[in-house]
Amino acid sequence: MIQETQPQLATRAADDAAANPFEIAQRQFDKAAEYLDLKAGVRAWLRVPHREIAVNFPVHIDDGSVEIFTGYRVQHNTTRGPAKGGIRYHPDVTLDEVRALSMWMTWKCAVVNIPYGGAKGGVICNPKQMSQNELENLTRRYTSEISVFMSPEGDIPAPDVNTNPQVMAWIMDTYSMHRGYSTPAVVTGKPIEIGGSLGRNEATGRGTVITTLEALEHLEIPVEGAEVVVQGYGNAGSVAAYLLQDYGAKIIAMSDSRGGIYNRDGFDAREVKDFKAETGSVVEYPGAEGLTNAELLELKCDVLVPEMEEHTSTEDNAGHIKAKVVAEAANGPTTPEADEIMYEKGIFVIPDILCNAGGVTVSYFEWVQDLQAFFWSEGEINQQLEGIMVRSFDDVLSISQEKEADMRTAAYILAIKRVSDATTIRGIYP
Ligand code: GLU
Repeated sequence: MIQETQPQLATRAADDAAANPFEIAQRQFDKAAEYLDLKAGVRAWLRVPHREIAVNFPVHIDDGSVEIFTGYRVQHNTTRGPAKGGIRYHPDVTLDEVRALSMWMTWKCAVVNIPYGGAKGGVICNPKQMSQNELENLTRRYTSEISVFMSPEGDIPAPDVNTNPQVMAWIMDTYSMHRGYSTPAVVTGKPIEIGGSLGRNEATGRGTVITTLEALEHLEIPVEGAEVVVQGYGNAGSVAAYLLQDYGAKIIAMSDSRGGIYNRDGFDAREVKDFKAETGSVVEYPGAEGLTNAELLELKCDVLVPEMEEHTSTEDNAGHIKAKVVAEAANGPTTPEADEIMYEKGIFVIPDILCNAGGVTVSYFEWVQDLQAFFWSEGEINQQLEGIMVRSFDDVLSISQEKEADMRTAAYILAIKRVSDATTIRGIYP
């Protein structure tokens, strides 16, 4: 008989639990695990990360000094395939955050049924205050430090908060220099010139839109004229906004870390994106009413797209959210308390591990193309993406209806079952 033992990880203090993303990820897991008859040991195993690496490393700074940075790479699970997940650069990165994000990647890849496990990486830094040269130095050294984990078969990084195709190019180059030959399949989200995939830049926003259209259809809300609020106007949020606009939706508000703008008659989402690219923020956009991020979340609308950091919807504000659909383009924007409040209010939440899975899905296509050294057309990629997102949405909705559970719990049930079945079939080594 296998005993259920739970490894003790050093997490943040218990009184900080409400803000600890890893504990939130575990609570979400526990809630869904109750619906499943998991084998002894499997539940305890899936609720913790498999491998973790913490690295402190020196980087040359432009003024001639050397600064020490701290980074992490966590592989939550590799049962269904290589560990997959992005790398973020942010001053607030913590090991617990990276653990949570790695766990969410495992479930995300399982929800859309692509043959990956989950990983995440992060470096504590403020890339907005660093030069290109410093960012390159940091990226190359961090890549070397975590390269013991990385390989096309083992662990494949990608972009996340504050990292982009150029950073992926440095990762690909550094790894390839160590190997002595070009290894494009070791990282995704690369520039097209070095083995990136068409459609990858838009993929997270496009996946968000595909699942939003499915949700609107299910709720019988016409997309034509639907009012959309986008909190965070980065890559995923701005793409989601202009694609929804192409379907006839009205984008009435958007924001970034500096604040938001509002116009009941709707914005041209592409013009606002260009404005932000030029000025660094949406806030000065002409002819718009200004509002705070907190006010923006409480606007009456059909669709709210949160694309900002974790914990956008908490027990403090979830009761004031007036959207009919919340499409989580960000990872972890909702606490378990907020989930319950929104479920009771009848708000339809498309959970992050489903809603923003378009990014990793096209990362998967990129990896497959790199391994085959044979590239597909953008039309083919978008069509395959749509097929996967629609099928996954339908799978999750069916479970949600059958179990009378919210969409997040339903997505977890689907994902945990896939990973636990794979674990059981493979068996425990030795
Ligand atoms: N960072 C993205 C995510 O959270 C993409 C990960 C990937 O493509 O591997 O899903």
